[in-house]
Amino acid sequence: MSLDYLIVGSGLAGLMLCEQLRARGKSFVVVSNTSQQASIVASGLYNPVVLKRFNMAWNADQQLPAALSAYKKIESLLGIKIDDQRPIYRIFNSIEEQNNWFLACDKPKLQQYLVPKAIKNNNSNVLAPYGFGEVKYTGRVDTKLLLDSYRNYLKSKDLYLEETFDYSALELNHDEVNYKKITANNLIFAEGFGLKKNPFFNILPLEGTKGELLVVHAPDLKCDVILKAAVFIIPIGNDNYLVGSTYAWNDYSNTPTESAKNELLEKLQKVISCTYEVVQQRAGIRPTVADRRPLVGQHETHKNLYVMNGLGSRGVLIAPRIAKDLIAHIEDDIALPKEIDINRFKS
Ligand SMILES: Cc1cc2nc3c(=O)[nH]c(=O)nc-3n(C[C@H](O)[C@H](O)[C@H](O)COP(=O)(O)OP(=O)(O)OC[C@H]3O[C@@H](n4cnc5c(N)ncnc54)[C@H](O)[C@@H]3O)c2cc1C
Repeated sequence: MSLDYLIVGSGLAGLMLCEQLRARGKSFVVVSNTSQQASIVASGLYNPVVLKRFNMAWNADQQLPAALSAYKKIESLLGIKIDDQRPIYRIFNSIEEQNNWFLACDKPKLQQYLVPKAIKNNNSNVLAPYGFGEVKYTGRVDTKLLLDSYRNYLKSKDLYLEETFDYSALELNHDEVNYKKITANNLIFAEGFGLKKNPFFNILPLEGTKGELLVVHAPDLKCDVILKAAVFIIPIGNDNYLVGSTYAWNDYSNTPTESAKNELLEKLQKVISCTYEVVQQRAGIRPTVADRRPLVGQHETHKNLYVMNGLGSRGVLIAPRIAKDLIAHIEDDIALPKEIDINRFKS
């Protein structure tokens, strides 16, 4: 089989690459296992504002339109609804926080996203005596539905090989790569934290941050906005809510832990007063980088090998734009933005 591209990994990074290639009429096959779970367990939030520091998230004004358009195209391709646009209500803990909100609303870049008023809390099951600040143009992508549906779509077109990529079976020639029965002009690795096992790119400074979240059933909560306190509480329908997430740096397993559950419940109890039941706990490893920028680019020696990784804790927002940048780089010879290019780590 002779192809334009071989892609390794079918998380958000891999799928957004597929979308770019599909749009350009390029042939490709995806090889993927399910060893990494970040995309499938993610809360799926997209939010252009960093609510801790009241800054715009890095490049969010460019990434948001690319993301919204990408998810819309996938919805129409697959006949599913994955983008649930909903405001985030940031809970104020004090009058001082309310004042900080109004200061943030005056920042020119934030003006279009932050609503300049303190919203009164009318929900007796939400503990928010100082009210909320509303963030606009936010929402949640149902990443599990996205991944399950997209993988099925690829399978139906014979474009998906469900297997662990065998790096030792890769033959590298001047202008093509051979992998088992596949010949491709280019190979892009998008393995998330699985990159650590990739002999071509494992020199990159990928760290990995474990995240866990809960699904709780809270029939009395009746909240239809995304609440942001020490945790996010995200309505997902049928009186279920995602509660997340944790950050841990010394455990690289996908196994849920009791300590993360307790941490999340402790924080949840500071926000809601009604009863609830935990119905699920999920865990995965975020592919994080110390400088908080993606890892994108070409292998130093093997020119037909590329990487797209380092999406950190904001893959939903940034993957569509980064995939576009990488494919434009390969196909149209457009330079990658320096801050995402892996060449920044060259000594
Ligand atoms: C608990 C939690 C909550 C999160 N919440 C959010 C959120 O609200 N919003 C947001 O934007 N982001 C969130 N994230 C982060 C987001 O999940 C990541 O940014 C993103 O999913 C990373 O996507 P990826 O495709 O790079 O990696 P992954 O999702 O890890 O995908 C990599 C794929 O490659 C496959 N693979 C790896 N090695 C091999 C191999 N050798 N052979 C074959 N296949 C291989 C893996 O099995 C996997 O399918 C969250 C993450 C966690 C863990």
